[in-house]
Amino acid sequence: MINSLTMDDYPLSLTAVVERAEQFYSGRDVVSRRPDGSIARSTLGACARRARRLADALAGLGVGDGDRVATLLWNQAEHLELYFAVPAMGAVVHTLNPRLHADELAFIVQDARDRVIVVDESLLEVFDGFRELHRFEHVIVVSHGGPVPDGMLDYETVIGGSEPMEWPVIDERRAGAMCYTSGTTGRPKGVVYSHRALVLHSLAAALPDALGVSAQDTLLPVVPMFHANAWGLPYAAALLGARLVLPGPNLDPVSVLDLISTEGVTMTAGVPTVWMAMLDALDAEPDRWDLGRLDRLIVGGAAVPRSLLEGYDRHGLTVVQAWGMTETAPLGTVSRLPVDLRESAAEDRYAFRARQGVAMPFVEIRARNEEDGFIEWDDAAMGELEVRGPWVAAGYHNGTGADSFTEDGWFRTGDIVRIDHRGSIRICDRSKDLVKSGGEWISSVDLENHLMAHPAVAEAAVIAVPDPRWGERPLAVLALRDGVTVDPEQLREHLAREFARWQIPERFEFVSTIPRTATGKFKKIALRDQFSA
Ligand code: AMP
Repeated sequence: MINSLTMDDYPLSLTAVVERAEQFYSGRDVVSRRPDGSIARSTLGACARRARRLADALAGLGVGDGDRVATLLWNQAEHLELYFAVPAMGAVVHTLNPRLHADELAFIVQDARDRVIVVDESLLEVFDGFRELHRFEHVIVVSHGGPVPDGMLDYETVIGGSEPMEWPVIDERRAGAMCYTSGTTGRPKGVVYSHRALVLHSLAAALPDALGVSAQDTLLPVVPMFHANAWGLPYAAALLGARLVLPGPNLDPVSVLDLISTEGVTMTAGVPTVWMAMLDALDAEPDRWDLGRLDRLIVGGAAVPRSLLEGYDRHGLTVVQAWGMTETAPLGTVSRLPVDLRESAAEDRYAFRARQGVAMPFVEIRARNEEDGFIEWDDAAMGELEVRGPWVAAGYHNGTGADSFTEDGWFRTGDIVRIDHRGSIRICDRSKDLVKSGGEWISSVDLENHLMAHPAVAEAAVIAVPDPRWGERPLAVLALRDGVTVDPEQLREHLAREFARWQIPERFEFVSTIPRTATGKFKKIALRDQFSA
């Protein structure tokens, strides 16, 4: 045994991130676009200083250690101030998704026992939908000029009437933030993030082969700050001094492209749906925007179709796919082209980039299925992905969902993957969506991607329907592009280029739009209910 002290047991708490923003990057812009389209300008320093006053005010309202403060806000500077203030004072910032149904929001705020809520004026109507269903002790409104309703507090008045708080020392294992999972199945479950997890996630996210964040960057998170910490971009920006452009509620392609060009955005991030629409706008008017500084688009949350990678390449823009979950804070894997594939055929490069990628440092992966146990990394065997690591959940709030964890403490993702010899994962399905036909697997995600590559198809969702002979068969639900028609036989021919005959759906159902969950994913349960009979 060596008898000496090793290193300082310095706490990895978000306080260090907030203080760094205040000390070193005080002048870096935080640009917010308001609901009316106007631009409000702040800085990392101003947000950090205002966070000290906000924390003091919240403490005055009775918020103590570990208490939950809910936010019903867009991507805007006030949200960043809460991201700073609440964890640094020792409380827990709980971001709410305004796109959820009121009943679901009521369930979530009760389950989390939120004490105070901060609401943007433009979301008061959403708040009205569930405010009677839970007793908040205080409601604080971020006003854009409108009157603050009776019984609620004005955000600016609250900050104005307080003193800057001296941050307490926070144990790195304490909770700093929480977020509920999307709830495609069952009730939403709360994921509680420790300071340590968020600090290490910010560091790792910033690595060059991950998202590659530096002080040279201007980041525009299209991914909402209520969805898995906006993939860690706000804290990464504060840690490294990147400029932040927060787009508010208007995420239509023209609004986003306008902001990217006027603010000189270098990196943006969001789900594929957003970038599909943006690609259409770019294709229609390729010279309208100056995207000269835009270096990369981080796309994740759902599979990135190859057509999206190719489409942006045509405009000289690089899409980087990432995979993650609310339970993984969220970054789990990133798909960066390996050095030895740089010069290879386009076909091979796209095939690699369309995968979900290689695990981030400290994130461990493995996958298994019932028949074989842990699968080989041969890109052939399929199994459910399991992960562990310093920013992977160890359980859910209130002890629910224990069956999502293995006996040895790994998190079961519910994603069915193949893993290649490089360790890059390829999601073939989610366990609940998997189609098992005659004892063989069919990947609904693969079918969807290929259907969406057909020029007539705007959206495709493939579900498993019961079949007396095969157990299950795939059924494709399609929304076609405006003004075009296609018949099932043509689609089968299209698929036959990539799939064995037995893998191709017999049934195609045409709908005007495919229903989505609040976070933009296809509502497969609703589709199953509708089409299973
Ligand atoms: P959420 O917790 O709502 O972010 O959902 C996480 C789930 O979204 C994952 O378990 C995957 O099923 C899916 N997902 C996230 N990123 C990707 C991706 N790049 N490709 C395919 N599916 C993804």
